[in-house]
Amino acid sequence: MTLSVTDRIEGSPSQSCDVELAKGPWEFDAMPGYGPGASSSDANPLPVVRPGQLPAAYQRMSDEELHARIRSAKATLGDKLVILGHFYQRDEVVQYADFVGDSFQLANAALTRPEAESIVFCGVHFMAETADILAGTEQRVILPNLAAGCSMADMADEDAVETAWEELVELYGTEPDAEGRMPLMPVTYMNSSAALKAFCGRHGGIVCTSSNAATVLEWAFERAQRVLFFPDQHLGRNTASAMGIPLEQIPMINVHKPGLGQTEETLRDAKVLLWHGFCSVHKRFTVEQIEQARAQYEGCKVIVHPECPKPVVDAADAAGSTDAIRTFVEASEPGDVIAIGTEINLVNRLAAQYPDRTIFCLDPVVCPCSTMYRIHPGYLAWVLDGLVDGEVRNQISVDEDVARDAKVALERMLAAKPR
Ligand code: SF4
Repeated sequence: MTLSVTDRIEGSPSQSCDVELAKGPWEFDAMPGYGPGASSSDANPLPVVRPGQLPAAYQRMSDEELHARIRSAKATLGDKLVILGHFYQRDEVVQYADFVGDSFQLANAALTRPEAESIVFCGVHFMAETADILAGTEQRVILPNLAAGCSMADMADEDAVETAWEELVELYGTEPDAEGRMPLMPVTYMNSSAALKAFCGRHGGIVCTSSNAATVLEWAFERAQRVLFFPDQHLGRNTASAMGIPLEQIPMINVHKPGLGQTEETLRDAKVLLWHGFCSVHKRFTVEQIEQARAQYEGCKVIVHPECPKPVVDAADAAGSTDAIRTFVEASEPGDVIAIGTEINLVNRLAAQYPDRTIFCLDPVVCPCSTMYRIHPGYLAWVLDGLVDGEVRNQISVDEDVARDAKVALERMLAAKPR
């Protein structure tokens, strides 16, 4: 039997990236930062601190009781409920999901269940916001633990992006060039707040996912001379570089530095201006890990997520979104050896699904996305019990104006087609 990530961490905390992970989630929810795990060292921007404490009665329940409550509530709520589980979610929670996928696949999957009054999103905050933007007016979206944020999404807050935008508009002006292309367009990765998606909607910009980032950048360059890309510097750099844009024209800006941390000449020459965000889970992968995997297994294939640093993406055999990684494994042959650079829960699930292949995570240390990890079965049981009792707990509700503008940017993405 394959041990779940949680079992492995609890059984041998010293083999995980932070021994604190072995504690109950309510213990690290009380901490001011993101909690132990891959993002424990990220600065937590103060405005995004979110409460995540579970009522004491649920903290004291045994695993058996929690799971019995979840099963019973699910059966009672029937079609009125849909549970979405992100690829990176722990197995103890994913087992109850009606759909498993990446954030955008899940938001779309919920659209196929209009009869569901409640969409319980077992992912992180920005994912629940996106689901709420796309959901029907009669549907409500619930995030079982409000402390489940995304450290990368929180690295770009609306005020900071507005400040950078104003500085850049002052430099570039607002006049289109001879081909009618505006001087600058904002492009946000799906992993961002609804407020930033709305910012893109208002400024002629667009949203991208890790699977369509190149198509979206092509769409943007047909309409703009430059792109301000946030929050993930790595996805922006990897995508732009693969499109043939030289690194000198993909500078990273820092809103906290004078002149955004770049010379005026660099800013004027830029094609893609990168925000300084990153994913703590994916930045752990290194070229040395790839070399080690290849030294250990001759013929080993390596696939990594484009949120990994560029040298890692360059050294791998392939790079792609969570769904592309799943497809890559699906297309492999029995006996193949595949090393994967993405979140451990997805890697372990693929390894369990394809026992006739050797599939392992490039990082030898067990290091889950610590914010996603905050959705423990205890929180799921608590929100589902609430629904059975007619009480909506932890609803994520995006302001109407924000949702309208964000939807514009999302719809532009849906309309953008590869050349
Ligand atoms: S894996 Fe990284 S980008 Fe994804 S939710 Fe976790 S911290 Fe955010």
